[in-house]
Amino acid sequence: MSGLDRKALWVVKELGLPAIVTPCVACRSTRHHPTGKVRENASGKLLDVWLLIGCARCGRTAKIPVHERVHVQALDRERLVMFEDNDPAIVRLLAMDTALAAKSAYRLDWSGTWELETDSPFYRPEEDRPGLEVIVRFELPAPVRVEKLLMAGFGLSRAAVRGMVASGRIRLPLAVDAKAREDFTFSVVASG
Ligand SMILES: [Zn+2]
Repeated sequence: MSGLDRKALWVVKELGLPAIVTPCVACRSTRHHPTGKVRENASGKLLDVWLLIGCARCGRTAKIPVHERVHVQALDRERLVMFEDNDPAIVRLLAMDTALAAKSAYRLDWSGTWELETDSPFYRPEEDRPGLEVIVRFELPAPVRVEKLLMAGFGLSRAAVRGMVASGRIRLPLAVDAKAREDFTFSVVASG
């Protein structure tokens, strides 16, 4: 089998952190960004940890609870140090944490947080070409509709992408209208 003579790597590159969408109590804006700081408050052996966010319009700071009255020993030592140091890596992780967003009832807006980088030479799947295997790698867990990735990666219209998926020319491990946020591989089978 394997008409897959070529491999390509597409990278969903990180451009920035998602906006945290929650009403500001001081103005009508809903967009927030992390301030880069994590706040902790210890009482005895119990610890509260918050991610600090700032309103994109008025700058008012708000707190998102990360841990509430958790026993210090229940937390990973490394994670504690990262909280204390306002480590950019932990701020990034918290800002992209969809479970935290769900728990605290806010939404993440991923628009403008990524761009697709494809390797060259550009592959034109609509022409007669040998097969191709494409590895899609995510630098950040931004939810991206598969169809949108294919349109951007191949420079094709939505109709052309749908047609190639329907005809079996493009073989996907997930539905074309699904949102991917993790690495996956798909193939374009040889034509003719
Ligand atoms: Zn505000």
